[in-house]
Amino acid sequence: MTRSNNGKEGVALVTGASRGIGAASALRLAAQGYSVAVNFARSKSDADAVVKQIIANGGTAVAIQADISVEGAGEELVRETDRRLGPPLVVVNNAGVQRSRAMIKQSLEEFDQMLSTNIRGTWSVTRAALPYMYDASWGRVVFISSVLGATGGPGDSGYGASKAALLAMSKSLAFEVSRRNITSNAVLPGTILTDIVSDVDPDVLEANIASIASRRGGEPEEVAAVVGFLCSDDASYVSGAEIVVHGGGWVNLPPTK
Ligand code: NAD
Repeated sequence: MTRSNNGKEGVALVTGASRGIGAASALRLAAQGYSVAVNFARSKSDADAVVKQIIANGGTAVAIQADISVEGAGEELVRETDRRLGPPLVVVNNAGVQRSRAMIKQSLEEFDQMLSTNIRGTWSVTRAALPYMYDASWGRVVFISSVLGATGGPGDSGYGASKAALLAMSKSLAFEVSRRNITSNAVLPGTILTDIVSDVDPDVLEANIASIASRRGGEPEEVAAVVGFLCSDDASYVSGAEIVVHGGGWVNLPPTK
């Protein structure tokens, strides 16, 4: 039995949705009929702007603060989503931190920052949402990984490792939940022109983009379109998949510092 997502009854939670790929995914899912919980860690005004845009488009959304790297915050985020919108049956694990630095220069603090958000926070949010999906016998989990999780890259021993972990997490979860009409998939963006790449040296970014088959960086909406597909009924038999969104080129962003 497949649950339709075309009505307003479906609730999607997008972490780190105040900007970039998360904001684009929230807007996309709202356009597909989901009520959307727009999670943010710090930038309330940005999250409110995303909510305002969704409502102006005729959708439903609320902004919910949670720093998912903090123990217990991911679980509370899921409970608050349920209280304000209903059970979150779609989770887009988008929140992520990238601190690119050669391993020899990287501090344990930076390494832990990436692990506590990208892996532990993501795991906590997903685990907390699973009981709702089990109850509904329907669900969608999307992990925003990175091409660097597949290839590694200079300066990205920590970030790449955290994103590789999401690939294993997604596939492992797919083994556990697919028979319940719950899918788990990973999206691997390449170079997408958001704030996360804004501190890359412009010359390095230009060289990087020149090496991509499409000869351009991607737009957040081009990743969101894939997220939207994975959260639709059209993707009912897609689980444990890894979808690259990289314009036809694997990327290596050199360390920024
Ligand atoms: P971004 O920096 O604009 O977005 C990251 C979002 O995560 C921000 O809104 C940030 O506030 C939020 N966030 C960070 N830590 C958080 C925490 N502890 N709790 C809650 N929210 C938190 O960059 P983006 O490009 O939109 O990144 C979105 C995702 O895509 C990230 O996971 C990133 O690693 C991944 N990604 C991006 C690219 C790219 O080239 N832009 C490539 C591959 C993967």
